[in-house]
Amino acid sequence: MTDLQNIDVTVVKGIGKETAVQLADMGIHSIQDLMYYLPYRYDDMRVRDLADVQHDERITVEGKVHSEPSLVFYGRKKNRLTIHLLVDKYLIKAVFFNRSYLKGKLAPNDVITVSGKWDKHRQTITCSHIVFGPHQQVTPFLPVYPVKGNVTVPALRRYIEHALKKYGCSVGDILPKAVRDRYKLAPIQDALAFIHFPKTEEEMKQARRRFVYEEFLLFQLKLQVFRKMRRERTRGVGQDYHLKQLKQFISTLPFSLTNAQKKAVNDICADLKSPYKMNRLLQGDVGSGKTVVAAIALYASYTAGFQGALMVPTEILAEQHAESLSKLFANTDLTIGLLTSSVKGKARQEILERLQNGEIDILVGTHALIQDEVHFSNLGLVITDEQHRFGVEQRRVLKEKGENPDVLFMTATPIPRTLAITVFGEMDVSVIDEMPAGRKPVETFWAKHEMLDRVLSLMEKELNKGRQAYVICPLIEESENLDVQNAIDVYNLLANHFHGRFHTGLMHGRLPSSEKEEVMKAFSANKIQVLVSTTVVEVGVNVPNATFMLIYDAERFGLSQLHQLRGRVGRGSGQSYCILLADPKNETGKERMKIMTETNDGFVLSERDLELRGPGDFFGKKQSGLPEFRVADMVHDYRILEIARADAIRFIELDEFWQDDEYASLRCYLEESGAMSGEKLD
Ligand code: ADP
Ligand code: MG
Repeated sequence: MTDLQNIDVTVVKGIGKETAVQLADMGIHSIQDLMYYLPYRYDDMRVRDLADVQHDERITVEGKVHSEPSLVFYGRKKNRLTIHLLVDKYLIKAVFFNRSYLKGKLAPNDVITVSGKWDKHRQTITCSHIVFGPHQQVTPFLPVYPVKGNVTVPALRRYIEHALKKYGCSVGDILPKAVRDRYKLAPIQDALAFIHFPKTEEEMKQARRRFVYEEFLLFQLKLQVFRKMRRERTRGVGQDYHLKQLKQFISTLPFSLTNAQKKAVNDICADLKSPYKMNRLLQGDVGSGKTVVAAIALYASYTAGFQGALMVPTEILAEQHAESLSKLFANTDLTIGLLTSSVKGKARQEILERLQNGEIDILVGTHALIQDEVHFSNLGLVITDEQHRFGVEQRRVLKEKGENPDVLFMTATPIPRTLAITVFGEMDVSVIDEMPAGRKPVETFWAKHEMLDRVLSLMEKELNKGRQAYVICPLIEESENLDVQNAIDVYNLLANHFHGRFHTGLMHGRLPSSEKEEVMKAFSANKIQVLVSTTVVEVGVNVPNATFMLIYDAERFGLSQLHQLRGRVGRGSGQSYCILLADPKNETGKERMKIMTETNDGFVLSERDLELRGPGDFFGKKQSGLPEFRVADMVHDYRILEIARADAIRFIELDEFWQDDEYASLRCYLEESGAMSGEKLD
């Protein structure tokens, strides 16, 4: 079979050296690239009855030229050609701008087909396309491609048409026949013809379905092969933990584990024991009890003779975790150390020494934990909380320090399954999808700004019961300064409002960390009843007596973030409330507020968030890590994604896959993608 990847585009009629350079800029080098350059939409060229078409809609009509076309020049080099056209019984006008050359080609009684935008009031079509002849000669759907530089869409259409005519039958199908048959997918030759020049909507759909599956399958194969190779190559030590001791530890916990927690513990313990490196994501909604799962894992590793580390994104969180772990490990002889950037001088030196000689069993800290000066004596397990805030960079550093520990990532941001299996597809995933018994869902209400007075009196009622409240200030993405100013304004307002009755505190990212800590401590100790804050409290903070949360300008937050914020309340036994203060301007905003009042389930919210915001926005701009698909859409095509993933997982375990000719193209693709090395994946 001809290797179309090696045939230069210049073999196509009309593509000279200059055009080739422009095409190269669009990523088109070979005939193969050209044929796989797919349209992102189509112009519908099917004829419609004028009576059915709305003002400003696109339309295609066939008509008879009624009188000599008139050409008018105006401005500098501009002209307008007007044709009176008889379409059925209607006499309408068809107007072309700056296409004076058409005049000589048209005469009364000619039948032509034109399409463009319909001005219902003026009975005029402003035309973009013309075909000299009846409608049968018109392609029903004209493909539209993204273009750059001097390359025009019509020219690209011609190139692609030419390439398909000449080389279409030599395209090799990367999908084995058995797979195509199974899902009734069109063979590649048909699929390419259909996707570029569909004759019917059915062909369009057929082609799309095939390319969506192909794209997902290739992507998932890459992930799964990568995962398999890495797993098999990075052999570590099996951690031979002490089962009896571990069970004994679990039995001393003040509660019994939920089934979901037990399942997660089992997954993790199996990973520890296996000779492969653990690379697992633990997802669980806020309050689902991830900390204790982490503690059990650390304890297991400890009984096998290893040290553990728990990395978190903020100092406040590091301290809280160190404290909760100390409580959980109170009846054991395990030693915990805390290392953040505010641990300095002698205290720091001491911790580092005790860590290196193995006196400290578990080190809790921020990224300070992986700096050069930090050396473990025998690091076996690293757990990171809120992993999506941790850079790939930090993980690399750990590895380069010569530590190759088992790694567990925990996140309270429920990641929709579609994204989880795309972005974290090469990881193992455990999900805690069950809340500890007796948790009361937070009651959530949506109020307009004009209702602030009533909201404040509701808040006061709670405060009078001895409860505490969070007030979260609006998020203004462009500027942290503005966020801070907002928080200060709201703080002044509330400090004034509650003056003499309750203490109000202020917290934001610009405070020095010693002050932040002081404020948090005061809030924890109930010396402050109302805490006004920017979103810095979002992660992990735990003050069970806080039962009231007011979120200003809630429409500025995404659903996942609102849910994270809301997770700060509802941590004790009392009923908690969350008030969303918002005047959303559009339907999506209103929809978001409504969904928040309807469900407390983080996974449901994350799925809705994904639908409303789209995959690109889900993780925020900085760290999306999302692959780009040409045809497929992760959200709308998720069923196909699931199927392709299951197939990928199955294929790579089959002998046929690694041996049979049918799979040769797929193997070749994997070889070129770099997944086989198990080291790096782009
Ligand atoms: P998160 O998953 O948000 O990190 P935490 O680990 O902080 O949640 O747990 C939230 C609270 O639930 C803690 O106070 C913890 O002690 C408690 N908890 C965890 N697991 C259980 C359980 N199985 N039964 C009852 N309470 C639990
Ligand atoms: Mg937590």
